[in-house]
Amino acid sequence: MIPFQYTRASDVSDAIRQIAADPAARFIAGGTNLIDLMKYDVEHPARLIDISRLPLRSIEETSGGGLRIGALVPNSDLAYHPLIEQRYPLVASAILAGASQQLRNMASTGGNLVQRTRCFYFYDAVTPCNKRQPGSGCSAITGVNRINAILGTSEACIATHPSDMCVALAALEAIVHVAGPAGARTIAFSDFHRLPDNVPQRDTNLEPDEIITAIEFPPKGFNANYSYLKIRDRLSYAFALVSVAAALELDGDTIKEARVAVGGVAHKPWRVSAAEAVLLGQRADASIFAQAADIMLRGAKGYGHNNFKIGLARRAIVRTLSQAARGTPQSQSVKKIR
Ligand SMILES: Cc1cc2nc3c(=O)[nH]c(=O)nc-3n(C[C@H](O)[C@H](O)[C@H](O)COP(=O)(O)OP(=O)(O)OC[C@H]3O[C@@H](n4cnc5c(N)ncnc54)[C@H](O)[C@@H]3O)c2cc1C
Ligand code: SF4
Repeated sequence: MIPFQYTRASDVSDAIRQIAADPAARFIAGGTNLIDLMKYDVEHPARLIDISRLPLRSIEETSGGGLRIGALVPNSDLAYHPLIEQRYPLVASAILAGASQQLRNMASTGGNLVQRTRCFYFYDAVTPCNKRQPGSGCSAITGVNRINAILGTSEACIATHPSDMCVALAALEAIVHVAGPAGARTIAFSDFHRLPDNVPQRDTNLEPDEIITAIEFPPKGFNANYSYLKIRDRLSYAFALVSVAAALELDGDTIKEARVAVGGVAHKPWRVSAAEAVLLGQRADASIFAQAADIMLRGAKGYGHNNFKIGLARRAIVRTLSQAARGTPQSQSVKKIR
């Protein structure tokens, strides 16, 4: 048993005051990741600041035509919200591909962004891991790295970001609203997660004394031509080996706008602007999708057990874009169980 203090934040300002005053404290929302990390002896917060009762549970339309999602909206409420189902089905599809219904009922929107890697060695407190213990080494590079990254890796870390929802949010270009002692600010989704470089212990550009208050969805939801495809070892309750979020705007057969983000391959959802640019003005077919996939995977490198991900990602990108173009998104066929 690790001793820790437990406090509740009364409002957002109080949450910021409490976290800024105690660098050894952590926010707890749904607890579905943090509690596991504490049990595995990976995280040792001296204090948990419970933010789960803060009034950040609403989904509101913005004046610009988008949606603002409170950081504490549970993943299942978000996926089944009528405005999300109608206007942002890519997000609903990605959320429902993750975890289990029970976990999605507990997991919060903000916590989903800050969940940590599932690299086996990160969770195994007796093995070297630069992310868990900076400077100790990376066991995955020469170890069992089937689930690890093939893009954007460094000599210090080859971990992936495990979220499904974040892959869809990257494609939609969501905006993260945060608040801290210096006030409120926004972070473009592409800048929220970091590559490991030589600071693998830092997953995001959120400061330690900042709280996520909301995620803003831009007006464009690509609700006609989208697809989220998740390839994993089991059909449910498993993290992605490779996942792809694709969103297209078509004029007949011609691509007017394209967004593609790949999960399970890097320390952040992977997007490459040159790959999306090559699709513009082209006829939506498998040959141009294959060209885009090749651009997205330029520089991909396997570490042994995960070499298969390079070919898998290429095929998954082509298939997901083809499904999006046909308007036949891979259905997660998840029943509504509330
Ligand atoms: C068995 C299992 C399977 C899973 N499968 C999947 C899957 O397939 N796909 C997938 O995407 N996810 C999966 N998950 C992960 C799950 O989605 C995350 O654990 C969840 O989204 C985290 O949200 P939470 O509210 O529970 O976060 P918590 O555990 O409460 O917190 C996680 C981290 O976020 C920080 N945090 C929380 N809220 C905020 C905030 N508002 N501002 C700043 N920091 C904050 C906490 O301090 C902590 O560091 C799985 C989890 C489990 C246990
Ligand atoms: S890949 Fe990253 S998380 Fe995994 S062992 Fe190496 S340093 Fe740790």
